[in-house]
Amino acid sequence: MTELTEHELERNNRWLIRLRWLAAAGIVVAAMVAGGPLGYPIPVWDLVALGVLVAAYNELLREAEKRLPRGEGQRYRAAMVLANVQIAADLIALALLVHLAGGVENPFAAYFVFHTIIASTLLPRAAAFAQATLASTLYAAVVFGEHFGYLSHNRIFAARGPDYTLLDVAGHVAVLGSVLYATVYLTSTITQRLRQREQELAAALAEVQRQATACEIARTGLQETQAMQLHYMRRVSHELRAPLASIGMMLRVMRDGLTGEVPPKLRQILDRAEARTETLLDLVDDLLTLSRVREAPLQEPMTEVSLPQLTEVAIDTLADIAANRAVTVTASFPPGLPPVCGQRDGLHTMLVNLLGNGIKYTPSGGSVTISAELEPSGQAVWLHVRDTGVGIAPEDIPRLFDEFYRTTSARESQIHGSGLGLSIVKAIVQAHGGEVRVDSELGRGSTFSVRLPVWHPPTAGDEDESCLA
Ligand code: ADP
Repeated sequence: MTELTEHELERNNRWLIRLRWLAAAGIVVAAMVAGGPLGYPIPVWDLVALGVLVAAYNELLREAEKRLPRGEGQRYRAAMVLANVQIAADLIALALLVHLAGGVENPFAAYFVFHTIIASTLLPRAAAFAQATLASTLYAAVVFGEHFGYLSHNRIFAARGPDYTLLDVAGHVAVLGSVLYATVYLTSTITQRLRQREQELAAALAEVQRQATACEIARTGLQETQAMQLHYMRRVSHELRAPLASIGMMLRVMRDGLTGEVPPKLRQILDRAEARTETLLDLVDDLLTLSRVREAPLQEPMTEVSLPQLTEVAIDTLADIAANRAVTVTASFPPGLPPVCGQRDGLHTMLVNLLGNGIKYTPSGGSVTISAELEPSGQAVWLHVRDTGVGIAPEDIPRLFDEFYRTTSARESQIHGSGLGLSIVKAIVQAHGGEVRVDSELGRGSTFSVRLPVWHPPTAGDEDESCLA
């Protein structure tokens, strides 16, 4: 039997207490009827006293039930003790009743059956067996005790005549009938509760399934909305790019004096307009890249990529910017570093973004170092881009990879940026099944580390040419 919940145990305890009022009244009424009009030689007032005793201890149990301790676990244990005490007290009362009214002749002995049914529904198996043992011991003590003369035997049949009468038979039938009805009542109550629990479970399961379906619909809807957003982002950025580029070009033509002489004041304005156009173009380019890597992350084939070669190209791409900012860029790779499995263009974009940030957020005279190492498992390579720059505050780190997020210090500085670079890096790394980590200390510098899978030559006949596992 699986254990009852605390709630069920308490409910059953209360149910048993309610039932006992009926039993107490039943003892009193049965004693008076059997001893009065039916004329059985039973100690009516002893039995009435027993009924009152049952009612009295029931009142104590009711009080105890109301005062169960509140603490979790503690309350369950106390409710379990109460259930055991209730059943044991009933068994003792029943044994007394049997003894007072005929011992082995008393048909009410069959009521021991209920108590064992109740015990087996309320208590753990071992405790139910213990209660059954108590019931058998008590019954045996009464009937053997009376048989061997240790207890007085009240001869309820023989005392009234030479043999048992029709009334005795009818009494037995009536008591057995009541045992049968009570058994049906008990077992059907238990079955009903079980069914009710089953129905509650089925309803809960149906609700979980309904919610899972609703989640699935919402997820599909969300995916569609995201796809649409990405599509519009790409369309709009694409439409903006060409006019912005030509505005920039026209501004340059004017500033360089190709359309006539430019007074110094106007040149200043043209310079600023051109710088703004450049910033806008960078933003549009970042939006285009982000929508491309998000929309079709696996479009480009995965191939064997050498990190030292890729780094050389990225350093070349950013050499002028690094030189302008007087930031030294160096790379060092361990000999025999295996190639990684990736999309060459995507990884180039990732590296340019990380290296670009390293240069951008490092004051003149600082340095950016690129290094890598093979993971002990031999399955992946960690690429590190370390700078001696401004660093990042711990509270900014969790939001660093959010779109358009820029740290307060970056926003307040003169350094321009779209806040999209790290979102692009994350999307690319995810498309490679890798991960990206940041380790930074404000004012001391930052290290961005990326985990990429090692390249494995495709096995012969492999339909899917991807080197990703
Ligand atoms: P941005 O275009 O602003 O550089 P990113 O998405 O590349 O956008 O970076 C987001 C923010 O993370 C930046 O605004 C900056 O505040 C911070 N950040 C990124 N890389 C570094 C770094 N190497 N050192 C310090 N801060 C950095």
